[in-house]
Amino acid sequence: MVADQHRFTLTGIASSPGIVSGRAVVLTEKPVEVNPEKIKPENVEKEIANFTYAIARLKKDLEKQASNIGERLGAEYARLFEAQAMIVDDQVINGKVIELIRKECQTAAYIYYNQVQQVIDQLSKSNDAYLRERVLDISSVRNRLIEILQGAKKAFVKDIEGPIVVIARYLNPGDLLGFSLKRKVGFALGLGGVTSHTSLLAKSLNLPTVVGFGLDVDRVKSGDRVILDAYSGRLLVNPDVKTVNFYRDRQSLSAELTRKFQQECHKPAVTKDRHRIRILNNIELPSEASRVIYSGADGIGLFRTEYLFLRDTAFPNCEKQFRIYRQILEKMGNKPVVIRTFDLGGDKFVGSTGKAVDPNPFLGWRAIRFCLDRPDIFKDQLKALLRASFYGNLEIMLPMISNFEELSATKQLIKECREELAADKIKTKPDIPLGIMIEIPSAALIANHLAKEADFFSLGTNDLVQYTLAVDRTNEMLGHLYQTYHPAVLQLIEKTINSGHRYKRKVAICGEMGADPYGIILLVGLGIDELSVNFQSTGLVKSIVRQIDFRRAKLIAKACCKKSTAKEVEDLLDAKIEEYWPKLVPVIKFIKGINHAG
Ligand code: PEP
Ligand code: MG
Repeated sequence: MVADQHRFTLTGIASSPGIVSGRAVVLTEKPVEVNPEKIKPENVEKEIANFTYAIARLKKDLEKQASNIGERLGAEYARLFEAQAMIVDDQVINGKVIELIRKECQTAAYIYYNQVQQVIDQLSKSNDAYLRERVLDISSVRNRLIEILQGAKKAFVKDIEGPIVVIARYLNPGDLLGFSLKRKVGFALGLGGVTSHTSLLAKSLNLPTVVGFGLDVDRVKSGDRVILDAYSGRLLVNPDVKTVNFYRDRQSLSAELTRKFQQECHKPAVTKDRHRIRILNNIELPSEASRVIYSGADGIGLFRTEYLFLRDTAFPNCEKQFRIYRQILEKMGNKPVVIRTFDLGGDKFVGSTGKAVDPNPFLGWRAIRFCLDRPDIFKDQLKALLRASFYGNLEIMLPMISNFEELSATKQLIKECREELAADKIKTKPDIPLGIMIEIPSAALIANHLAKEADFFSLGTNDLVQYTLAVDRTNEMLGHLYQTYHPAVLQLIEKTINSGHRYKRKVAICGEMGADPYGIILLVGLGIDELSVNFQSTGLVKSIVRQIDFRRAKLIAKACCKKSTAKEVEDLLDAKIEEYWPKLVPVIKFIKGINHAG
């Protein structure tokens, strides 16, 4: 919608929910201005002193941020800033800069900029996503250092009163924290996925964030009046009065719903006709375990252990992993904790695997394939899990299973690990459930065979949708083709649940579909036993389960599986929800951002 030259709406991907209405603060990604500028020989030592002061100050700032965030969110996040502090402290670069200031009599800013640029140029050419991600960190550190050297300040942030929406092509987690969290702040970013570190941190800090706007963010100017709708993934720039009023109502509805969902958190997830579903939480970091307890969930349905690599270049050894797993299990008491073995590869932390290039990463050396090829790494993890099993209610889960052999090979490795631990007189629990993720169509299609050997299934719909429909889950250009309710996907889910139940296996879901209102109705109707969702969604999911009835959901889901398009599925759901559960309509409309003005 473009009503005048500077009124427009951008669409991205909502990654941390909420609404912020305020002024835009645009952080330009253009490199900071650093022109060559000769200094007089008598000022060289002063310039070097300025440079060393700037280094020390930025290092101190980053360490302070590391310690603040460490206290609030745990050591894993603190490591993000410690890593940046290490970049600032790079003795080779800093030594070279001092040498060149003396030799060339140029400003520290100019020389530092060029030295770091050489590193950036090298890393940018890499095909490895992990190394390319480091470029963003390094350039952020460089820009901050040059700001200190040039005495530049983001004065406009201070000049603007009230809520702000920070607009940038990219922000790293450190930049995110550079903004006062005392006022309402939202983030509209050009780059970054929903599972990027910045998005994760924004979610943990409850900062409304939308990513994936691309270069369109450059159209926004500092001071523009903006509304960020981080439910539907929209940024409305200079909206008209009607839109502003609409969003005023939407903001109060958002606050009202948040309160309502919070009240639902600790109630059981039972449908109106007494069908019970267990609601668990997905976690990425060990420190999130305590949130699961107060979120009212029945346990942890997915711990993505690959996040233990967050900014680490080395694999955590068996002892370190054992301590982490034990701590989570102890914290959760007798509640179930599903720990998924490393799902490295795809878009996640490929740099840590020691393999530089994977030409087609989502179809490549990922997850169980990587682990079975590297038994040294895999056995360390399996042994850590076996040892930790004594301290709680552990279930082990394998990602990306595409055939029967991968499951058998893992069972053989577990047997070896048990024997090796026994030889060292370390006891292991005998009956730890071993389940698999169903996220590849081949696994869903042979689920009846897999159910004989796997103790439980968990549907990974984030991947199941991408592999069934051949749509890259990270490519925002294909967003319209990433159809969670495509009947082909629904049929694979139906087949998986029926196959699991035939062998009395628990069937869960840990993909994002489990936190989506339509998804919840479909999954409950298809007979899902557990929904594992982000802890912030626990109340919403429980609230929806408590308002529907199993008998009707079953009929709806069955009819949806027979439809020929995702649109037909959605239309049927809309019609039936309106007929059977009209109170859900405004909630669903709100979450899906339907009826948006602007
Ligand atoms: C999934 O694919 O749905 C899933 C839960 O795993 P991940 O998002 O980590 O690939
Ligand atoms: Mg997956």
